[in-house]
Amino acid sequence: MVANPQLKKVKEDYNTGQLFPGDWTTGLLKGELKNLIGTDQAVVLSGALRTLYEVKHIIPYIIENFGLENIKIIHLDIGLAEAVRRNSSRRVCEKSAHPLPDGPEFKDLKICPLDQSPIVRRKMDQPEIIQKRFENYLTQTRPAIEVIEKISPLTVFYLDGERPVAVVYRELKDNLEL
Ligand SMILES: [Zn+2]
Repeated sequence: MVANPQLKKVKEDYNTGQLFPGDWTTGLLKGELKNLIGTDQAVVLSGALRTLYEVKHIIPYIIENFGLENIKIIHLDIGLAEAVRRNSSRRVCEKSAHPLPDGPEFKDLKICPLDQSPIVRRKMDQPEIIQKRFENYLTQTRPAIEVIEKISPLTVFYLDGERPVAVVYRELKDNLEL
């Protein structure tokens, strides 16, 4: 087997809380988005875009291929304490990374009901790595999101993500006419 040095670097970035190389992420995103052009399928890019490189490459691409009127940019804002609390209690399955909700009815679950693989905690969800990820968010992602409104006519809809899921959901639905 030939070792792929870029894949090795990406895996290391993932486990240590660093953001992926921009050309890696944009390559993957464009590869997947290409299949949706001309279809009426909706897509959510969750946790994207995270860097200036991604914003500069993906925003013009989606405007051109999907149309300005079909794009909504949502920024759910949470602070460090809440990010640590939510992520450090997060569990996923080993095989497909299906996320497990943080609730009493799931706490004793050890096997994923969807694919029967073991439920694990990810290395990237350890508190010190979450802290690193949060710093990267403040220094790279937050400024990159602000650039979206400078390089395009798109508006970023900011909302307080620390409130209960149902409240955030209703506010999104009302404001974005989803
Ligand atoms: Zn699973």
